[in-house]
Amino acid sequence: MKRERKVPRKKLIITSGVAAVVVMVLVQLYTLNQIWQQKDELFRLKYHELAKEALETFDRESQTDGFESALESISNYSQHIIDSELHIDTGEADLDLLTNLVIRDIYDILLAEERLTLLLSGFFSERDLDDDIRRGLTINYFELVDKNIVYPVFISEDFPTGDTGHKGILVSRFRSEDNNFRLSFDYYIDIAGKQLTLMREIFISLSISVLSIVAVVIIFIVAYRNLMEERRLSELKTDFINNMTHELKTPLSTITVASKSLEMERVMSDRNRIVETARLIGKQSVSLNRLINLILEISIWERTEFEPDIRSVAIGPVLNDIVDSFRAGNYEQADIYSSIRLEGIVINADVTYLTTMVNNLLSNAIKYCKRRPRVDIEGYYDGSTVTISIKDNGIGISDEQLKMVFDKFYRVPHGDIHKTKGLGLGLYYVERIVRSHGGRITVESEPDQGSTFTVTLPTG
Ligand code: ADP
Repeated sequence: MKRERKVPRKKLIITSGVAAVVVMVLVQLYTLNQIWQQKDELFRLKYHELAKEALETFDRESQTDGFESALESISNYSQHIIDSELHIDTGEADLDLLTNLVIRDIYDILLAEERLTLLLSGFFSERDLDDDIRRGLTINYFELVDKNIVYPVFISEDFPTGDTGHKGILVSRFRSEDNNFRLSFDYYIDIAGKQLTLMREIFISLSISVLSIVAVVIIFIVAYRNLMEERRLSELKTDFINNMTHELKTPLSTITVASKSLEMERVMSDRNRIVETARLIGKQSVSLNRLINLILEISIWERTEFEPDIRSVAIGPVLNDIVDSFRAGNYEQADIYSSIRLEGIVINADVTYLTTMVNNLLSNAIKYCKRRPRVDIEGYYDGSTVTISIKDNGIGISDEQLKMVFDKFYRVPHGDIHKTKGLGLGLYYVERIVRSHGGRITVESEPDQGSTFTVTLPTG
């Protein structure tokens, strides 16, 4: 039931995140397109102005653009068509064909004889500009004098065209007429490297757009993962509290029943039963203690800022106390040896955190063991740092898993993982506690041989 409520929320977060990214991509694309149009316009304007300047220069220097001779040829050609009186008895379909042929001829003559492209290319090259140009012509109007025939507009093929005709850069519009013909045509150029130049110019804007999109996507993924982890954490917490309430009740009611039974006359007179009941109470107290330690962990977890309450601590007696009370609670199921040589050493630490840290390491040492656990605790001072090492003869950890054991919620996947209770938080806390004290933790382990966790803490 819980899940049913959660899935749509997850979907909603993903959908809104994806929608935000899509909107952003669209906005960026639109902006880039606008920038491209602007740059394109500027580029065309620049070459248009340059071409105008070039035409004036050619005029001044009396360089011929070849159109004069082309126009002469067109006049002769028109004269020839008029004289041949080809139009007189042609049918409508043939007339169409004929007009197309004529206009094509005019176009070919213009292209064949013009020299303007060459001149412009030279002019651009002298100024270190892109001189790889293509030419284009549009014949807007052509008329054979007195022949009352409408010739189609002719736009050069193999030249980029848009909705409104040529996309090229208009250099000039030519108009000419004599006794035989009337002609108006436009001469265009197109710069081969235009796309590349524009690309180069918008490269920075493009990079910024791409980077901002990537940044937003990354931020979204990170935020999403954090959110999901928080949710997982809170689900775990709820489950944990539910289990805990149940688990606390069992040892408590056993203790209550056992202590009541001690009051009974029948039990009081039987020494063996008294010892047995006392053991039962002791055992249940140990499990109560274990549960309380877990609750302590939860309370650390609840603190938003992981800030230890640092005070001067005589580490030797504190460590001895922790180990002794752990040994007392576990003497039946494990052999615990300690060699703590820390007399007179004082460190700055939070005792609650230190207790949690050592207890976590000790209970893991017993928990992850298939034979009778033997734990060796060593504590010493080397002149600058305090070292605490906890060695066990447990199942060990493979090199591959070793990298992850300190990760939040990480549990090594064993076949019998459910037998050993845990949330995968113990070592995560241990590492955080060590770090918050400015210390270091290392682990050496050999599968089936055992593990040694070594904590070093600074003094002073
Ligand atoms: P858990 O709540 O599962 O005990 P921990 O964070 O304390 O979580 O430990 C993470 C994992 O590291 C455990 O699931 C266990 O597989 C492995 N581990 C921790 N301590 C030991 C140890 N002393 N020996 C072998 N494996 C260990």
